[in-house]
Amino acid sequence: MCRRFDPDRPEPARLDLKTGRDLTRRRFACLALPLVALPWLPGVVLAAGAEEAPDPLPFEEIAPGVFVHRGAIDLMRASNEGAIANLGFVVGAKGVAVIDSGGSVAEGRRILAAIRAVTDRPILYVLNTHMHPDHVFGNAAFAASGAVFVGHRNLAAALDARRASYLASNRELMGALMDEVVLLAPTLAVEREVSLDLGDRRLIVKAWPTAHTNNDLTLLDEATGTLFCGDLVFLDHCPTLDGSVLGWQKVLDALAALPAARVVPGHGPASAPWPDAIEPTRRYLDALVTDLRKAVAEGVPLSEAAQTAAASEAARWQLFEDYNTRNATAAFAELEWE
Ligand SMILES: [Zn+2]
Repeated sequence: MCRRFDPDRPEPARLDLKTGRDLTRRRFACLALPLVALPWLPGVVLAAGAEEAPDPLPFEEIAPGVFVHRGAIDLMRASNEGAIANLGFVVGAKGVAVIDSGGSVAEGRRILAAIRAVTDRPILYVLNTHMHPDHVFGNAAFAASGAVFVGHRNLAAALDARRASYLASNRELMGALMDEVVLLAPTLAVEREVSLDLGDRRLIVKAWPTAHTNNDLTLLDEATGTLFCGDLVFLDHCPTLDGSVLGWQKVLDALAALPAARVVPGHGPASAPWPDAIEPTRRYLDALVTDLRKAVAEGVPLSEAAQTAAASEAARWQLFEDYNTRNATAAFAELEWE
């Protein structure tokens, strides 16, 4: 199979939002993959058949060439099209990098529309900061763009393991929006660190040990010192634990050393000062660990400990009731075996 994009030989590409066709065509001259592949990519079929160009998702330019959409602090549901995570894109001289694709293909198409309102340059990379649905469900909207999909070395296996449960469990709240969702695995798996060249700026992408999940990835735009850290940092929205609470504490220490000026957290404000923005997440994890260690030491059963752990944090976070018991349950199992 031929390579669909040569970063050293960028060609301006533009996707027709009405037909989903790549207007440049040359980039696919070697193989008509996007069209040939359509039967197994239902999301792309619908994207290509969309009659109307979608409304661009609102984005704020938080630093030169760095655009962020602030997600709603909410659960994913049909009424918000799954648009609950912070997402971004960075525009360079050679093209664009997208950071997370949103919680539905509909949201992904609106990201694409927002990019096209800013630039005609090709979309070179679509990066997923981790496996969670609000960050990856929009991937299929970019399948025809020719972009390289970038993810943690563990992301493909994590998506494979959760594919059935993600598609089934989200249908209850997302309804027909789920028909289009295809969990696309990365085509570039990051072992430790890679540098992505956008022409006049470099993006440093790092794969982290297990923390929020076992596939957390961060992206640092060197030109502006903007760090996209996915759900390694939460603000306002209660943190959610799907990896290792002890690992996450360690990763926050290492993360704090990154030379950033500002951070785009996975949820919360579009931009926050670095590294101060780490503190609320750290405080929450510390409270969870301290309370659960005490419960384990005192022989308090899980059912009781999960109700009381990190209670001091309850008033500080939105959606605390939705996530804290689940976090405490996961952390208890880890701390019980320390
Ligand atoms: Zn997450």
